[in-house]
Amino acid sequence: MRSDQGDWRVRAACRDESPDRLFVRGAEQRKARMVCFGCQVRTECLAEALDKGIEFGVWGGMTERERRALLRRRPGVRNWRALLEAARRESVRPDGYRVG
Ligand code: SF4
Repeated sequence: MRSDQGDWRVRAACRDESPDRLFVRGAEQRKARMVCFGCQVRTECLAEALDKGIEFGVWGGMTERERRALLRRRPGVRNWRALLEAARRESVRPDGYRVG
């Protein structure tokens, strides 16, 4: 199923959380991302951060450091949303993690 670009935030597991919870620094991000693991829009969220070059905070269950590492491993990707949606259809993200 393809999600619309704009409506995924209303289904976010963090929609009622304080933004301060996800926009923490360093090792705190590994704890903060726990809310993402049950989120049904992880793919859309992660794609938004990767496609828009958002560097700060937890997005799609990945810390800043993890996203930077992913971008280094896949420098040729121009459309993360398309790639992640294709990977979701196959139930595996390009970095090997299983997704929702
Ligand atoms: S993946 Fe995490 S940061 Fe993104 S919408 Fe879901 S809970 Fe929020």
